[in-house]
Amino acid sequence: MTSFSDLPIRDDLRGRTPYGAPVAAVPVALNVNENTHPIPDDVVADVMASLEVELRKANRYPDREFAGLRAALAGYLGHGLDASNIWAANGSNEVLQQILQAFGGPGRTALGFAPTYSMYPLLASGTGTGWIAADRGPEFVLTAEHAAGWTNAKKPDVVILCAPNNPTGTPLGLDVVEAVYDATEGIVVVDEAYAEFMPDDAPSALTLLAGRERLIVSRTMSKAFAFAGVRLGYLAADPAVADALRLVRLPYHLSVLTQAAATAALRHADQMLGTVHDIVRQRDRISQRLTELGYAVHVSGSNFVLFGGVDDSHATFLALKDRGVLVRDPGIPNHLRVSAGTQQETTVFLDAIAGLGPGGARATRR
Ligand SMILES: *Cc1c(COP(=O)(O)O)cnc(C)c1O
Repeated sequence: MTSFSDLPIRDDLRGRTPYGAPVAAVPVALNVNENTHPIPDDVVADVMASLEVELRKANRYPDREFAGLRAALAGYLGHGLDASNIWAANGSNEVLQQILQAFGGPGRTALGFAPTYSMYPLLASGTGTGWIAADRGPEFVLTAEHAAGWTNAKKPDVVILCAPNNPTGTPLGLDVVEAVYDATEGIVVVDEAYAEFMPDDAPSALTLLAGRERLIVSRTMSKAFAFAGVRLGYLAADPAVADALRLVRLPYHLSVLTQAAATAALRHADQMLGTVHDIVRQRDRISQRLTELGYAVHVSGSNFVLFGGVDDSHATFLALKDRGVLVRDPGIPNHLRVSAGTQQETTVFLDAIAGLGPGGARATRR
């Protein structure tokens, strides 16, 4: 059997492991922070109608500038943004990859505050960008002073702030974004993949864009918007950022089908986001119940909860899987992460973990 390391692969990729959220066919999958509610029937019908129109034109390449989609995304975000401020790709992972291709690369570095999204170091390595893992403060909270201190000390070309942070759920103060921006001459990315789950009155980094041409706010339709399978991520920034990304994107990177599906779904944004309040309720229910069960629950502004106090996180992960519930072992000792599902899915998870006893003690007796 040939392993990829036997091939003439780049030295810096030899021996690395790919992104690997475990996949398993279980009744209750709460492991990758999807919106687990199905897409409403009338939205499906409208998306299908758009797809049919576009499919008839699919002998031609798609609109390389995806002008209609960018206008729709600008309209969704508001904050005085227009199509020229928007860029999009096949998931915000591709947006982040393009940012690192344009602003990182060989001889350059990107900095993030660990534990954070596991794709950042992988995207850095794929683009030949050096990855610097800075740390966080107590309870995973990032202060302006701490974050600016790391930025000053390391002088990275790109800083990625995850707000709220995955896998901890920790919200981020806008003062941190401002302080990091002032501490660097590089690009500052605020990854707001979970922004829609924050309280309605919590300000987004979108409010900081005016006058900050090196600031990028990244968003996705994969989480609150319940469109993970379509693959559509986007950013808002100065129009010059989109110009830079045009240098590295593949021509026609967004298919006619992706553009049509996303544009149609955005016409139903209120309906697509209609489940957000219930998901937030289930998240708070998880936090409360896990606290009652004796777990150390971390504050979450997202659609998932990170909890500590697990005796053996791998054994508990497996015991929950045996009971039909998939959660995430984020690699933080004695911690697990669970996404808030529907009320019924959340009940299945809470009953299963309660059944494992304090700290999941019964999980080790399989
Ligand atoms: C899920 C997630 C994304 C979204 O990725 P897509 O490629 O848009 O599906 C981006 N950033 C973070 C931190 C995430 O957790």
